[in-house]
Amino acid sequence: MQEKIAKEIRMPARKPALAANPDLLMDLVAANRILAMEGVLDAYGHVSVRSERKPGHFYMSRSLAPPLVKIADIMEHGPDSEPVGDDRKPYLERFIHGEMYRQRPDVMAVVHSHSGSVIPFGITRGKMRPVYHMASFLWSGAPVFDIRKVQPENDLLIRDGKLGRELAKAIGACACVLMRGHGMTVVGDSLPEVVFRSVYTQMNAKLQTLAAQLEGPIEFLSEIEGKLATATNRATVERPWELWKAKAMATLKG
Ligand SMILES: [Zn+2]
Repeated sequence: MQEKIAKEIRMPARKPALAANPDLLMDLVAANRILAMEGVLDAYGHVSVRSERKPGHFYMSRSLAPPLVKIADIMEHGPDSEPVGDDRKPYLERFIHGEMYRQRPDVMAVVHSHSGSVIPFGITRGKMRPVYHMASFLWSGAPVFDIRKVQPENDLLIRDGKLGRELAKAIGACACVLMRGHGMTVVGDSLPEVVFRSVYTQMNAKLQTLAAQLEGPIEFLSEIEGKLATATNRATVERPWELWKAKAMATLKG
């Protein structure tokens, strides 16, 4: 009996070998570390990428602080947002990712963050809009998802598919949705783009808050400026990605 218990204790949780492109998984590890390095994620929050082979599936770490994520921690998740053949503990808010991928076929990567800089814009009437070109993708203004309107009794977390679907509805065609009293969710067509958008949404929030303390009104980017600057920036997202990835990989080796 003792032997059996000892064997059970030693038995690792089931962890299948992933059939994913190793470069994609390494980029997901880098994205976790970059977002932690830039203060978008801390011990909480997560980033995922859609599977190249099974579009309804996505890859994301097991429940773990993002700066600690390695390739071995990544799990495949199915269209129901549950891990596929993997017994390890998933993130509670995995439904954010699964429902974004379901509702937005253009989305290839998702970030969910509790960045303190964006919180004021989810709890006041001040709409977040682009104050500079790096955040031009916010040209239509970031919508706010209020969980209370969907579920009056809640703990603020997106803990099931129904809440995930409502959040995905709230983002509409935008790049970012703010979540009242909670944080934000950002989408992109690749890991480099979603990381770029997350970092610059956070910076825009800081700059807009600073600008609001000076003599107004604030001059935001116009719709046409937003669209044109977004097209320009999309062609350059590899530049900060290469820099951030090099720094993040250095922390992995160290
Ligand atoms: Zn959250």
